[in-house]
Amino acid sequence: MSDCLFCKIAEGEIPSNKVYEDEQCFAFYDIDPQAPTHFLVIPKGHIQSVAQVDGSNSAVVGHIFEVIAKVAAQLGLESYRVVSNIGEQAGQSVPHLHFHVLSGRDMTWPPG
Ligand code: AMP
Ligand code: ZN
Repeated sequence: MSDCLFCKIAEGEIPSNKVYEDEQCFAFYDIDPQAPTHFLVIPKGHIQSVAQVDGSNSAVVGHIFEVIAKVAAQLGLESYRVVSNIGEQAGQSVPHLHFHVLSGRDMTWPPG
């Protein structure tokens, strides 16, 4: 999508601190980290949020979880949290599907 921040990051049009890339997805460090390690994994194709995942596009979500496991292992993360916010009330600020991967500090439950 032409006016989407994360589409532009995935295309390299806006710079980011890349962690991983393949033909389907892109991972980069969050600009405002909420934990010692905080990166985001996004599909290269535009999907607004988990609420827009269906049979036509869910394969990339499975792939993203494989990538999360692989990158987390490469970074030596033993414990981490994966979060995706859907909609404004849940805290979604960028309307392009993304999974936060947070690690390196104690975390509370329930989340705020
Ligand atoms: P959410 O609020 O769940 O939609 O997550 C969006 C995340 O994107 C936030 O944690 C932001 O800090 C992060 N973010 C926004 N702009 C950038 C950027 N240019 N590079 C890296 N992360 C960003
Ligand atoms: Zn997008």
